[in-house]
Amino acid sequence: MTLHDFAPTDRRRGPSVPSPLTNNPRAGQWSSERMSHGMVADYKRLLMTDGEGIRCSLYVSGCPFHCEQCYNASIWDFRAGHPYTPELEARIMADLALDYVQGITFLGGEPLLNTGVLLPLARRIRQSFGHSKDIWCWTGYTWEELMRPGETPDKLELLHLVDVLVDGRYIRTLHDPLLQFRGSSNQRILDVPRSFEERRPVIWPKLHDQKRFIPEVYGKDRSAGEGSAS
Ligand code: SF4
Repeated sequence: MTLHDFAPTDRRRGPSVPSPLTNNPRAGQWSSERMSHGMVADYKRLLMTDGEGIRCSLYVSGCPFHCEQCYNASIWDFRAGHPYTPELEARIMADLALDYVQGITFLGGEPLLNTGVLLPLARRIRQSFGHSKDIWCWTGYTWEELMRPGETPDKLELLHLVDVLVDGRYIRTLHDPLLQFRGSSNQRILDVPRSFEERRPVIWPKLHDQKRFIPEVYGKDRSAGEGSAS
């Protein structure tokens, strides 16, 4: 398959990738500028499945990782869905202003390949709400990949506005339904400000994976890596 570009399996890359079950980009190989069409697949209000607390979720279109058994394969196409509009942004800002909404979650698709939409939105959220609302982001990239020299700067710029990052591809052979907010055990929930501060991926301190699956309490089996809340 020409799309595959398998990276070396040395330990410096961390535990998350590469995988023969996904595409593996070189640093800077994929960029929002070249790939994004500014499309969104969905916007959902007042969810409790895409991160901590009551949240709003924005699903951007397009993901070239193509993980096997991705739950959101219908939005791999960067042209899927609808254009992001000022009306949708006004709706998002109004929803975030609600007292009981803790923050917003960016999912996809691949948020870091849709920075044309998400960077201005994240900046506006910070300007309007400071850090009183948090920003979560799911990505198929690993932290280590995003820190590679040669990666496009817009990804880091967005990352600097994010509080919590769920990183890494969904790898079906590592699927585990007991994981909190993620589908396979290679994926991590990272505290982004601390990770930058300590120059290494730091696990979100509130991480709480389940010991056994209780459908009545924890809902459906989240079967894929990114978002998977729809
Ligand atoms: S699981 Fe996530 S990273 Fe993998 S193909 Fe699906 S949307 Fe992309």
